[in-house]
Amino acid sequence: MARVLVVEDDQFVRSALIRHLTEASHTVRSVGTALEALREVAHLGFDVVILDLGLPDLDGAEALKMLRGITQVPVIIATARDDEAEIVRLLNDGADDYLVKPFSVEHLSARMAAVLRRAGTGTGGGGAGAEADRAIRAGGLVIDPLRRQAELDGRALDLTRREFDLLAFLAQRPGVVVPRRELLAEVWQQSYGDDQTIDVHLSWLRRKLGETAASPRYLHTLRGVGVKLEPPRDSPRG
Ligand code: CA
Repeated sequence: MARVLVVEDDQFVRSALIRHLTEASHTVRSVGTALEALREVAHLGFDVVILDLGLPDLDGAEALKMLRGITQVPVIIATARDDEAEIVRLLNDGADDYLVKPFSVEHLSARMAAVLRRAGTGTGGGGAGAEADRAIRAGGLVIDPLRRQAELDGRALDLTRREFDLLAFLAQRPGVVVPRRELLAEVWQQSYGDDQTIDVHLSWLRRKLGETAASPRYLHTLRGVGVKLEPPRDSPRG
């Protein structure tokens, strides 16, 4: 079983892929644009990405380059153009394998199995280790992006979707000050907005973590700069 991200804007192809992969007992998430794909891989752990090259927002080569900028997850490109020069270029740019559309379910399965085998995450490998590895840890915080569960010092946190996204985003970059503009873009998917949106969610999140802006433990606001998540010194190292 693998965690698969399907990036495909064609609803028909997408549904067929999801159905097939789910039947093969993989865990599937799907998006229709390159930017959504970038967001998904930034937040969640995947074992393989199936990337359609004809997406509405970004050129395939560009999408691949941006994906490679943030993750080493195996990428299988799916293209309708049987253009050898382009495929070779994409393989050199970090794609792990390719499929020319229309492809059969058997062909996809074979390519996926090969890619997963090379990455060492195929069936039989991984197991409990892979389960534990996907969690984000920072001090006493443990965040499971796939199950969307978070706990602090062994106690489950009851977070809203946005609070979870905000916490997971910051916890992936412990100690790094994230500008508010970036938080708005990445967590809220807004190119602009007022600071109050972030402040309100931060204050709710702080309450759930049992801290306040005046005496922060994990969430630190640097006025006029941004926000960072840093485990307190007395917490177990993550
Ligand atoms: Ca397409």
